[in-house]
Amino acid sequence: MATAVLGLQWGDEGKGKITHVLARDAEMVVRFNGGPNAGHTVIDRGVKFGTHLIPAGAFYPGTVSVLAGGMVIDLEVLRQEIDEISAHLGSVPELLIAENAHLILPYHRILEEVEGSGAHFGTTRRGIGPAYRDKAAHVGVRVGDLLRPDDLENRLEHRLSLLKRIWPNSDEIGSLTASCLRVELLGLAEPLIESVGDAAAAVASALAEGKDVLFEGAQGALLDVDHGTYPYVTSSPTTFAGLGNSIGIPAPDVRRRIGIAKAYTTRVGEGPFPTEIEGALGDELRDRGGEFGVTTGRPRRCGWLDLVALRHALFVNGATEIALTKLDVLTGIDEIKLCRAYLLDGERVERFPLSAEVLSRCAPIYETVAGWSAAPAEAKRLEDLPAEAIEFVARIEEETGVSVGIVSLGPAPEETIHREL
Ligand code: GDP
Repeated sequence: MATAVLGLQWGDEGKGKITHVLARDAEMVVRFNGGPNAGHTVIDRGVKFGTHLIPAGAFYPGTVSVLAGGMVIDLEVLRQEIDEISAHLGSVPELLIAENAHLILPYHRILEEVEGSGAHFGTTRRGIGPAYRDKAAHVGVRVGDLLRPDDLENRLEHRLSLLKRIWPNSDEIGSLTASCLRVELLGLAEPLIESVGDAAAAVASALAEGKDVLFEGAQGALLDVDHGTYPYVTSSPTTFAGLGNSIGIPAPDVRRRIGIAKAYTTRVGEGPFPTEIEGALGDELRDRGGEFGVTTGRPRRCGWLDLVALRHALFVNGATEIALTKLDVLTGIDEIKLCRAYLLDGERVERFPLSAEVLSRCAPIYETVAGWSAAPAEAKRLEDLPAEAIEFVARIEEETGVSVGIVSLGPAPEETIHREL
């Protein structure tokens, strides 16, 4: 059976933990979007990893890890991750890298600096946006180009000549040459070349054979380039609505679509955030939840759970269940708030506005629920939790119409409740 794990908020929901837990039973794990802007925290047999590109399947020998066509790949980061995971496992993970995935090149990172684009939208400055832009503008370089070094050099030459005309004063861009980049890229790619192939065909046949395939999303629904809080979004689709296109399979048969949401909300960088908590309580949540970026170390803004945004995110993901993470972080807070609707220009709204400008004028309408004093990490059934925590979960289910199938009570894989739905 196929399963998808998708973020429901502004990323950092704990997708790394949940995909790692579910990948144990998968024969293939497919990362379908984004690049090394993701930072998925995985704790594998007590060792902590922050994975950026490689899917969680890599931690299980025998499981194929696919980097699908919708991704943008930085070969240096990928090589480093493979080395770290191989040293941990004692064997090299089995990878399949889509030939139509795009490469992040040194000039993409430089562009974020010279344009200042990274600073404004709070990006991770890893060259993700410029790489996706090149893809849309037909001037990208794809993984498959590595198989044809002369084509590779021609494409690099073409792109560099344009960049040098646009940025004549940038020494960093001026010093790049297509021939040097070719040598550098081919050197980095050398051990990976055998893994480059037709990922869509491999995923389609795994699905057709009824194999256990797990799709791993990066970032979250509110960062989706089309359905998020544009322009404060990432550059790729992050939702199930975009998954088929990203892997190259129309309407893939994925029966279990798990949306991951934290029991509260966080966001990195700029952009409207109606339930943001300013002051001491926001700081406390940040410290308790360890809300600092895996990729950048930046402190995350913290706030209450926003059910208006959550309903929107569940819709664009066609989510069949919710995995609620970090419930333990709210333990000990006397009163917990849930945002049920917004007040916009004196009117109550329950639908999430797609305009960031409109969202910035929305004030949260809260319901307050009682907190709980303990949420034992070793709990294995929801019934093992205090009545207030059970009620909190029930309120989320009532307000969204979607069941909570997984509750996470700590970063370790075993600190998880799996419910029969
Ligand atoms: P991702 O990008 O969605 O994988 O999320 P991050 O890895 O950026 O952030 C999640 C952080 O929370 C990581 O440090 C995880 O180890 C941690 N984490 C995940 N689930 C839980 C949980 O249920 N409770 C606590 N306390 N921490 C968790």
